[in-house]
Amino acid sequence: MMNTFIGHSIDLMKAFSKDCDNCFNMKYSGYDFVTHKDNHSIFPLTDKDSGEIGDIQRLEDHALIQKTKPYLEDSVKAVEHINKAGSIEVYALGSMLLKLARQNGVKLLTEEVVELDRTASSQFKLSFETGASLETTDLLLASGPFIQQHAKSLGYDLPIYNIKQRKFVFKDTKQIIPRDMPFTIYADSQYLQWNPDEEKLMNEYEEYHWLLEEFPA
Ligand SMILES: Cc1cc2nc3c(=O)[nH]c(=O)nc-3n(C[C@H](O)[C@H](O)[C@H](O)COP(=O)(O)OP(=O)(O)OC[C@H]3O[C@@H](n4cnc5c(N)ncnc54)[C@H](O)[C@@H]3O)c2cc1C
Repeated sequence: MMNTFIGHSIDLMKAFSKDCDNCFNMKYSGYDFVTHKDNHSIFPLTDKDSGEIGDIQRLEDHALIQKTKPYLEDSVKAVEHINKAGSIEVYALGSMLLKLARQNGVKLLTEEVVELDRTASSQFKLSFETGASLETTDLLLASGPFIQQHAKSLGYDLPIYNIKQRKFVFKDTKQIIPRDMPFTIYADSQYLQWNPDEEKLMNEYEEYHWLLEEFPA
């Protein structure tokens, strides 16, 4: 279901991009999932067969992987490439949509919601940091990482949780990564590599034990 939903969003963006002369720089560079394991089917066959995930190409020919993706390690065994993926400029898309919404009569109000309640007269009441409030019968909650917190105050428990992720940025001094490389995801679970001193330290303190455990793909 999620794939159908996302696929539909991509189709809408594609049509919009065509209408505005690719004003938000939509690129189909694809996503690559790579594995070091033999016979590791990254996406289950049933998904591929039903076309749920979209067009996926599996590459196992070592020489071909090295020729087309020379930036990958020699020991990579397979790459699964998702065609219907890539990148967009989110601010350009957002500004464009906002402009269109305004042209169609949308009034923009920028406020921080500090409280969400249900009321008898209308369905929802939003209280803002400034002390002002707004009542409405329709509410579209799109508060990203705070959505669960907001939904709970309205009596909903959504099956959503947040995962803290780290982002590392470093200079590609050897210029290994080409500018058009697809977004590449390592699909194998793994253990982090520590030096013996670090490993000893982590073994000594229980709160660090998790760093020695297997990490998911
Ligand atoms: C560093 C980084 C890189 C990412 N890269 C990618 C990528 O390459 N591809 C990809 O598909 N996804 C990527 N993501 C994930 C993607 O950005 C999110 O999945 C997406 O932005 C979620 O959209 P959203 O509209 O649900 O929430 P958000 O974009 O988080 O929007 C929520 C909005 O609600 C507002 N808000 C929250 N609480 C309140 C409140 N109390 N009152 C008023 N306003 C409030 C926030 O200010 C925010 O504007 C990345 C995320 C990060 C952090």
